[in-house]
Amino acid sequence: MDISSDEIVAYFKSNGASENCPFCNKEDWYVSAVDSDKPEKLILEHANFPLIQDNVFTQNIMQIIPFTCVTCGFVRLQHMHHLQTWISSRKCVNDNETDS
Ligand SMILES: [Zn+2]
Repeated sequence: MDISSDEIVAYFKSNGASENCPFCNKEDWYVSAVDSDKPEKLILEHANFPLIQDNVFTQNIMQIIPFTCVTCGFVRLQHMHHLQTWISSRKCVNDNETDS
C-alpha cells in the first residue's frame, strides 16, 4: 500500500495525537525509506511482533510501524492495520466524492 507522509500526519491529527516527540518536543520523525520511483510515497518499514496467549507464542503476528525521532531517537510504534484501514476508508470517501 502506498502511503504518503501527508496521510500519516493527517491520521495522527484525526486521532488527536501530537506531532511532537514526548521526550524532546521536536517534530522530525524518520518513518521509512522514500520510494525512488514515486518520491511522494513512502516504503513503510515494519516489524512483526509475535503475540503470546497463555504464555505460548501463537501463529498471530502484529505488524508495527516504528516512527523514530530524528533528534533523540525515541521510537513511537503504530499498529499498521489501523493506519491502513483509516487511509483506505478515507480514499473511498474521496473517490466517491470525486465520482459524484
Ligand atoms: Zn525526540
